[in-house]
Amino acid sequence: MSPVRPVTRSAICAPSDCPDPQSSPTTGVSERAATAVAETTLDLLILQPTPLCNLNCDYCYLPDRLNAARMSDRVLRSALDIVLASGLVDTQLSIAWHAGEPTTLPVHYFENAFAIVAKAARGTVVHHSLQTNATRLDDEWCRFFERHDVRVGVSVDGPDWLHDTHRLHRSGRGSHRGVMRGIEALKTHKIPFHAIAVVTSSSLAHPEEVFDFFRTLGCERVGFNFEETESMNARSSLADQSAGSPRTFLERIYDLNEAAGFPLSIREFTGALEALTTTDLASRNNTPLGQQNRPLSILSVGFDGALSTYSPELLGARAGSYESFAFGNVLRDDLVDLMANHSFRTLSAEIARGIEMCAATCGYYAFCGGGAPANKLFENGTCASTETMYCRNAIQLPIDIVLARLERELSCAPELLEENE
Ligand code: SF4
Repeated sequence: MSPVRPVTRSAICAPSDCPDPQSSPTTGVSERAATAVAETTLDLLILQPTPLCNLNCDYCYLPDRLNAARMSDRVLRSALDIVLASGLVDTQLSIAWHAGEPTTLPVHYFENAFAIVAKAARGTVVHHSLQTNATRLDDEWCRFFERHDVRVGVSVDGPDWLHDTHRLHRSGRGSHRGVMRGIEALKTHKIPFHAIAVVTSSSLAHPEEVFDFFRTLGCERVGFNFEETESMNARSSLADQSAGSPRTFLERIYDLNEAAGFPLSIREFTGALEALTTTDLASRNNTPLGQQNRPLSILSVGFDGALSTYSPELLGARAGSYESFAFGNVLRDDLVDLMANHSFRTLSAEIARGIEMCAATCGYYAFCGGGAPANKLFENGTCASTETMYCRNAIQLPIDIVLARLERELSCAPELLEENE
């Protein structure tokens, strides 16, 4: 590979520069969208150590989870070279080891990988995080997390009868018992962790049981991922409205937490409250959703060196007219090559048009910034679109609930309103 070239900010594909996929000019691109692009920093590097997963959850979106290949040292070194020489990393870099089950690889694989990262990083402070199904966590993994201060996220859907409906081993056996063993190991070692729970149609009638489970789990925070239609998961169970209402489920969770004195930090509500109370639009754009809409803000590197950006779920996926979302490979390309890639530029133009459509039509735009490109693509067939089931459940609903509760509180304390008049 030729020497890595830094990315000049003016070279980042501003929406108005990108070719329109339908060959019509991209017009009306807002100042805000263009500014957001120009201010890009590379906030998150997602590394796929392996696509392999030991589980076979029925809603999984990963396309290649039987593949036991692993990222080589050469791919890892090349990825770090192009990222750290890009000029887009400030003093800190977050690395998430994801897109497969990392713990199917042995601890010594990560000891070696972390040593490579530390050597390449030089002055840059690197924060590592890892999302795991927890079934393989033991004392050795916990000691590794301690040594390297790894931020751990555990995927668990709730009590065993609910979790084991969907999160299964390949044999068909439920994984809940193994997950709880892994969580016990984390707690024994006093390693903080957050939980991610997928909410399916099976969850909707049971907010009380779900809340009680997470309230006593010992996690720092829980995030509810409403099952999405994306990639290999061609249809979310939530598309069937007779299964129940996500709104009723999430409202009940809020009310239970409130009645208990807010013992549980719930990502959807803390995020909504922050969005509602933040007047600085630039920091709103720094939310995970804002990052998904900005080129190179999130960079994903596959086990084989495939380079992708925007929503992490695009790595390894196919959708619409896109055969692949690999816009280059770290073994031969740098980020300047990525930005010259035709598919990247086509997708960038689509995303920019979608953001403009959202800005023109959606009352939630100021809190959302135009949504997640992957969900628009998988649900609507194009990123040049607006509302998705994902944004109704994950963006609009938490904002509605928190706003209604704030209004209720204010109506109970009219003196606060008068002070502001
Ligand atoms: S909530 Fe949905 S429709 Fe509204 S701005 Fe966000 S992505 Fe667009």
